[in-house]
Amino acid sequence: RIVVVGSANLDLVVTAPTLPRPGETVLGGEFTTVPGGKGANQAVAAARAGGRVGFVGAVGDDDFARPQRDNLVAAGVDVSRLRAVPGPSGVALIAVDRRAENLIVVAPGANAALTGLDAADRAAISGADVLLCQLEIPVQTVAEAAATARAAGTVVVLNAAPARRLPADLLATVDLLVVNEGEAEVLAGRPAEPGDLLDLVPRVVMTLGARGAAYADRDGLRLDVAAPAVEAVDTTAAGDAFTGALAVAWAEGRPVAEAVRWACAAGAVCATRPGASSSLPTRAEIEAVA
Ligand code: ADP
Repeated sequence: RIVVVGSANLDLVVTAPTLPRPGETVLGGEFTTVPGGKGANQAVAAARAGGRVGFVGAVGDDDFARPQRDNLVAAGVDVSRLRAVPGPSGVALIAVDRRAENLIVVAPGANAALTGLDAADRAAISGADVLLCQLEIPVQTVAEAAATARAAGTVVVLNAAPARRLPADLLATVDLLVVNEGEAEVLAGRPAEPGDLLDLVPRVVMTLGARGAAYADRDGLRLDVAAPAVEAVDTTAAGDAFTGALAVAWAEGRPVAEAVRWACAAGAVCATRPGASSSLPTRAEIEAVA
C-alpha cells in the first residue's frame, strides 16, 4: 500500500492568444477546470499504475472541493483521510497562450491548513509500504509524516518539488529522493548529478525529460535509464506520472533498474497526451511501452 501526504488543487485554465502584461486585459478562449496539485496527481498516477493508494490532504469548503474529491475517488484512491477545512480550496490560476507559454499563480488555500497529522493519519502511514510526499504542503507536515513512516519501517519517497532546500530532520528520514535537474541544483547549491546528492540521502532518482532518468545509491549502484522514444505533445504531469509509477514499483519490491524503467515508461506515455491529471497512464498503458 502507498500513502500520499500532499497537495490538492483545482487548476483553473484559460487559453488566450497572448498572455497579458501587468495591467493589461486580454480576451481569452475556452475555460476549463482540471483537478491538480502534485500530491493528488501522484496519488492518481500511482492508483492508475495499479497501486493501492490512500491520500492524506485537505480541500476547502467551497465549490472547488467536490471535483477534486471526485477525481481521486474515480481513480480508486482512498479519500478517508482527505479533510475539508474552512475556507478556500487550493487553486492554480493558469493562462496558456498559443505557443503553450503559461502564467501560473497558485493559491495554496486548504493545503496551507495541513499543519499536522492526527492519529488516524499516522496509523495509515505506519501501515503502508511506501509514503510518498512532495513539497506543496507545509514542510513540517512532510517531516512529521516522514518521521512517522521511518519509525514504522515504511519506505519514505520524497519528490522534492517545487524546488527548495530541505531541513536536516526531513533529509534524515528520506529513503529515496526523486528530483529533476532544477530541483537537484537547488538542493546541491550547484548543477548536480544524482551521485552528488548522496551525502544528503541514501538513494536518488533524477528525471531528465526526454533523456529518461538516472539513479545513484550509497551502495555504489549507478544507472542511466533511457526514456522510450515517443511523440511528446505535452509534458505537463510527466514528472507526476513518473513518481507515482515509481512508488508503485517500489512498493511491489521490484528491482531498481526495472522500477526506474517502468517509471520512465509512465512519464513517456503521459507526455504523448495533452493535459495534466487527465493524461496519467493506466498500468496497461505503461506495460505497453516499458
Ligand atoms: P519534470 O516535468 O518534473 O521536470 P521530466 O520533464 O524530467 O519531469 O519528465 C519526467 C519523466 O517523464 C522523464 O524522466 C521521462 O521518463 C518522461 N518524459 C518526459 N518528457 C519526455 C519526452 N519528451 N519523451 C519521453 N519521455 C519523456
